[in-house]
Amino acid sequence: MSIQETVKKKLSFFGGFVLTTKHLTRPRVTRQYPLEKKPKQPRQHGRHVLNRYEDGMEKCIGCELCAGVCPADCIYVRGLDNPPDHPVSPGERYGYVYEINYLRCIHCDMCVEACPTQAITESKLFEFSFTNRNDAIYTKAELVVDDNGMPQKLPWEDWREGEDLMISGWMRATSPAGNADFEGVTQWSGELGYGVRAAEGGQSGLRDDEATHTKPIREVLEGHLLAADIPAEHKGMKGRIWRAKISAERNKAKMQDLKQRRKDAKAAKKLAS
Ligand code: SF4
Ligand code: SF4
Repeated sequence: MSIQETVKKKLSFFGGFVLTTKHLTRPRVTRQYPLEKKPKQPRQHGRHVLNRYEDGMEKCIGCELCAGVCPADCIYVRGLDNPPDHPVSPGERYGYVYEINYLRCIHCDMCVEACPTQAITESKLFEFSFTNRNDAIYTKAELVVDDNGMPQKLPWEDWREGEDLMISGWMRATSPAGNADFEGVTQWSGELGYGVRAAEGGQSGLRDDEATHTKPIREVLEGHLLAADIPAEHKGMKGRIWRAKISAERNKAKMQDLKQRRKDAKAAKKLAS
């Protein structure tokens, strides 16, 4: 065996460090949960809220459609005729009992889809736990939004900044029947504290990213499209370069985020000492 080969063999164990070394410079993907949280998706299905109209009236008309459609049988609703002198909802009836059992709910959102008045929607909050069964059954008093149209924050729930916004965000998709004429067309009523919410983008250019925080479906779900529907510049070598650029941009943003978080942590440590 030559000297070169001997040296190479002796140093071959360094090869095992290549992968480790590569990862030293890559952005860290783990977070110090629950101190640090990732931003949630616009259509996150969290715990429900009962919405009110802009004038403060409740949207629920006690029709029980949500209870009927719920596959987990976790909603209990009872409707009652509105008192003529102080109506609770603009309809004939209102929901005077409304309960959701979160020991059963699977957050499928079928109740949200079934509701004819957009009374029941979901917030982005999913971090809540209970120590007894009673706490797991949310009553109407807990579900209905407050006087500013915001969800009520119960003691065992871990709300963070922004999680109480966009509580009806996910249902604002347009063109429910697939008719492009209805894309971007608002088909829902206003909400207390927010007014009429902007339409979520469909597949056309009729969209408002600022208001809805959504991305064109073609950008997000290209992998699910038929080959004929994928733009030419996203195919073959061109596509590889395009993807590499996006990935590089994403990594750059992650690195910047990491640097910022380190900087913030240092500043917080300095303040504390
Ligand atoms: S999200 Fe699904 S399981 Fe939960 S209450 Fe609504 S319909 Fe029932
Ligand atoms: S939340 Fe909607 S579907 Fe359920 S009872 Fe009220 S109005 Fe009807």
